[in-house]
Amino acid sequence: MEDCLFCKIIAGEIPSAKVYEDETIYAFRDIDPKAPVHFLVLPKAHIASAAELGPENAGIVAHIFEVIAAIAAREGFAQGFRVVTNVGEQGGQSVPHLHFHVLAGRDMSWPPG
Ligand code: C5P
Repeated sequence: MEDCLFCKIIAGEIPSAKVYEDETIYAFRDIDPKAPVHFLVLPKAHIASAAELGPENAGIVAHIFEVIAAIAAREGFAQGFRVVTNVGEQGGQSVPHLHFHVLAGRDMSWPPG
């Protein structure tokens, strides 16, 4: 999508600190980390948010969680981690391209703000 910030990051038009990439997924460190470890995992295909997901996206969502688990094992999040996706303005979403925040390296509070 032409005006999408994350599509531009995936295309390499805007620099990012890449954590993982394959044919369908891109992951990079959040520019404004909210935990000692904070990266974003997103499908390369433009999907606006989790509210847009349907049965046709089941494979990519499963693959995203598989990759998150592999990165967690690789980077040794032995004490646990959190996966969050914000949806829409009131849900705290600022970039309308589906992405999963992965946070680790500190105790997480509940409920989130
Ligand atoms: O859930 P939300 O849409 O607000 O998350 C967007 C995230 O993208 C933010 O955590 C922000 O710091 C991150 N970001 C980034 N690099 C950019 C622009 C935004 O990591 N160039």
